Amino acid sequence: MAAVHLSNPVTDLYGIGPAAEERLAKLDIYTIYDLIAFIPWRYDDWSDVGTIASFDMTDRFGSDCGYDLSFRGTISTNPSVNVTSRKKPLSFFVSDGTGRIKLTFFNSQYLAGKFALGDECFVHGTVSLFNGQMQMVNPYIEKAEKIEDNALVRPVYHLTAGITSNNISKWVRTALKLCGHELMSCIPASIAEQKGFVSPLEAYEKAHFPSSLEEARRAREQLAYEELILLGIGMKLYSSGHGIKEVAEQVIPSGPNGIDRESAMRWSQIKGNLGFTLTEDQASAFRDVQTDLMSTVPMNRLIQGDVGSGKTMVAALSMIITALMGKQAVLLAPTSVLASQHYKTISKLMANSGMEPVLLLGKTKPSEKQEIKAKIADGSARVIIGTHALLTDDISYKDLALVIADEQHRFGVKQREKLLFKDTAKDGTVKSVHNLIMTATPIPRTLAMVIYGDMATSVIRQKPMGRQEITTWFVNSKKSKAIEEMMAVKLAAGEQVYIVCAKIDKDETESGNDNMVGEPVDGDESVTSVFEMKKIVDSMSNLSQYQSAVLYGSMKEKEKLETMERFIAGDIKILISTTVIEVGVDNPNANVMIIMDADRFGLSTLHQLRGRIGRGDKKSFCLLVSESRSEIALQRMKMMCESSDGFTLAEKDLELRGPGDFYGTRQHGIPTLRAANLYTDMKIANEATEAVNKIIEEGGEEAERLNDAIKKMFELRFARKMEQI
Ligand code: ADP
Ligand code: MG
Repeated sequence: MAAVHLSNPVTDLYGIGPAAEERLAKLDIYTIYDLIAFIPWRYDDWSDVGTIASFDMTDRFGSDCGYDLSFRGTISTNPSVNVTSRKKPLSFFVSDGTGRIKLTFFNSQYLAGKFALGDECFVHGTVSLFNGQMQMVNPYIEKAEKIEDNALVRPVYHLTAGITSNNISKWVRTALKLCGHELMSCIPASIAEQKGFVSPLEAYEKAHFPSSLEEARRAREQLAYEELILLGIGMKLYSSGHGIKEVAEQVIPSGPNGIDRESAMRWSQIKGNLGFTLTEDQASAFRDVQTDLMSTVPMNRLIQGDVGSGKTMVAALSMIITALMGKQAVLLAPTSVLASQHYKTISKLMANSGMEPVLLLGKTKPSEKQEIKAKIADGSARVIIGTHALLTDDISYKDLALVIADEQHRFGVKQREKLLFKDTAKDGTVKSVHNLIMTATPIPRTLAMVIYGDMATSVIRQKPMGRQEITTWFVNSKKSKAIEEMMAVKLAAGEQVYIVCAKIDKDETESGNDNMVGEPVDGDESVTSVFEMKKIVDSMSNLSQYQSAVLYGSMKEKEKLETMERFIAGDIKILISTTVIEVGVDNPNANVMIIMDADRFGLSTLHQLRGRIGRGDKKSFCLLVSESRSEIALQRMKMMCESSDGFTLAEKDLELRGPGDFYGTRQHGIPTLRAANLYTDMKIANEATEAVNKIIEEGGEEAERLNDAIKKMFELRFARKMEQI
């Protein structure tokens, strides 16, 4: 067998074929290193062995959920298969001297051949009452002599349909054996010693196969430390151009005679087109941008503002002023729906100004594309709006000065860099462009520092005048009449409704949907899909006269745009969709949002979704429908009902997520972290990166080793993923 390395695809491991490969890809696992880094998100501790008698039934069966018990005992009735009906479950009793429990196994007849009367066993399962008798259905059972100590702390992985924690454990064991020695430590030796850290191989072994919860905790802490160093330092090493002097064009002339009369007149025409006055925060953000555009130091600014706070307007004005000064500005939107919408807004704003924006999408007709590209090349198009289609190599700009990315986390860092670096001059300076990023994800300050480094920030806190608070209610049953009634009332008043579902079809989740929290929804029957919801809505007697339609990410671009347009035009009354509507859709007449299986979404996503309503002057309502009784889910629902402040919610969100933060980080434009929690481990992050920076600055052997290790490990772990985000 050829040598297997960390960078090899998972299929190089024995037992992983195309089907498993596809499933692992859903978990963002492609290489052997990805697999090793996929540490459990929690552990079941079975080592607390009890006795059957001590299991207090009166205490526990008051509630409707079962309780887990681990115990050792002897098989006390014959485990034999029912010969008349092989379909019948296999059952037998196990006693431990204090009492006995009936074990029942479905589809596991083979166990009859494995266990015999009198065998000493270890059993773990959920106890339930059946005909007044204690019973366990499909528990874990193993012969006592085969149980090793460390088999009792059971790793639990975030999973997708068709893969079990046992599969992962088996593969990881092989992976560590084959290439664990290639793992390089990215932690300074002095810190490792001081903290009692072990080798990365050992840390991964302990994280995947701990012999105690304490050991697992320590391993996770070390891996989190390393992960944050990789991210914090590696990201810097990775983005090209770092440390090089960059210059950008001065867009707005400074000084008293800055703007000529003609431009000034056009500018006041455009401001007149606005139809409202900017809020103080908008005006101040726009002033920040104008100041940046007066300098030749490239702007590197983040505009952070809650959904609906009016960021797009600031972006639009920034583009227009750049165009007025004779230079080009590009606005990158993550979806064609959003790009089209921006195009409309900006077109209105530019009416009668003597200038026109252009829109370039993937689906733009080739002939039209050519025309637009020609206009971009000769400089007659100066306000340029589009999607990824703008990032192809065959577009040349006459005089590009400003690039704005809306919800930038949907664009790869590398992708954006394509637009940012134009030329390297003889003296080594790089001619760059001004860069503005707009985000509605309210990123806690500490997190922003890790992701964006030393980016300047403008925050828009106020909402435009006349907005009403959205009222949010938690609905604890899908059958609740409240759902239909709420829709009927608002629809009768001529308003529109969004319904959001956590999956598209029976087995299909939105691709690239990393917003789910907790267990996977693929194949989870209890989760209502877009298509199921469509049927339910169409069968509601009060709603039969209202047109409904579905919308999801994998629909054809053209259909998606059409559906969106018909919804905005008021033709479609009820839009049933996945989280595709999360970003930027603006329909001020839609004032009700119903989120099905709301427990499946993180707080940030819920908040983002809710931001689609409450955009007009009417009262808006959001119903969070969830039948989950999990404590964390209920806490999230409560937060949503109580707070409408994105910032508060974002912090709470990070706090509520467990270690590993499986789904959360990609929303923020950084790759999935496996060990670190960006909220609770933030102190570590700062401490770790500072220490490494200091060592690297001082130079020497250890600096070289770290530099080398971090570069290599970052490349393996994150580099390819950075391109995909
Ligand atoms: P964001 O991009 O921050 O989510 P938008 O820029 O899309 O917000 O603005 C949301 C809505 O508010 C739009 O319909 C926009 O026309 C409107 N709007 C923006 N600024 C103002 C303002 N200062 N006064 C009134 N309405 C505004
Ligand atoms: Mg917007």
